Amino acid sequence: MKIAVISDIHANLEAFKAVIADAQGQNVDRFLCLGDIVGYGPDPGACVDLVQSLDCAIVRGNHDHDAANDRELDNLNDIAKTSLQWTRGQLSAEHKEWLGNLPFTKRVGRFAISHATPHRPNLFTYVTNLAEAQACLDEQSAPLCFIGHTHVPGVFVSKDEVAREIQGQSVAIDFDAKTLVNVGSVGQPRDGDPRACYVIYDVNEQSVNFRRIKYAIEKTKQKLLDLGLPTYLATRLTIAA
Ligand code: ZN
Repeated sequence: MKIAVISDIHANLEAFKAVIADAQGQNVDRFLCLGDIVGYGPDPGACVDLVQSLDCAIVRGNHDHDAANDRELDNLNDIAKTSLQWTRGQLSAEHKEWLGNLPFTKRVGRFAISHATPHRPNLFTYVTNLAEAQACLDEQSAPLCFIGHTHVPGVFVSKDEVAREIQGQSVAIDFDAKTLVNVGSVGQPRDGDPRACYVIYDVNEQSVNFRRIKYAIEKTKQKLLDLGLPTYLATRLTIAA
C-alpha cells in the first residue's frame, strides 16, 4: 500500500497535474490532501475540481478557510489578501461550501493528518523549527502525523520526549516513537528548490519518501502575470529561499 500525501497545491494546476502523474507512475494506491488547495495560484476552481476527482481524505488549510467565506482579511499581508479576494471571485458557491466544510484534522488508520499543528489544527500555527516541533510532538496523540503549511519539507521524531530532525530523501518510520512529517508544497515550495514537492508513504515498508517533480513552471508564472495578479506571486515560484 502506497499513499501519496500532498499539501499546499495553491491553485497551481501545472504542478498539481505533474505530481498526480508522478504518483500514478509510482503506483500509489491513494492520495491524501493536507489543504491549501487554493490561494496564490491562477487556477483555484480547476484545482478544487481535480482534488475532488481524486476521491481522497482532505483537511482544510488556512487559504481554503479564508476563500470559503466573505470575512475581512485584515490578518493577512497585502499579497495574500489580493490573491484571496481574487480567488473568492473565481470559486463557485459549491466550491466555497465544499472548502468551508472540510475538517481541520482527520485520523486515517495509525496516523493523523492536518494542515498545521495537529493538536490545534484550527489555529493554523506554523512548525518552523525543532523547538516548535518538540512542542507539537509532546501533544501529538497519533504515532505519525502528516502536516504542511510552512511549504518546507522535513521530518521530526520524538523518542523519550526528545525531538530531533531527520534529514534524507527517504526516512524509515519508527512506530515506537512519534513522528511529524511536513510533506512540503506542491504548488509553491519555499525551501529553495522550485520543483513540486510531495511524499509517498509506503505503508508496508513503513517509510516516507520525498519526491521533487519538475513541472511547466513558466506556464504558471505567465498565467499569473496575464491575470494581473501581484508579480511577486509569479517570481516567488522560482525564488531561491
Ligand atoms: Zn500554504
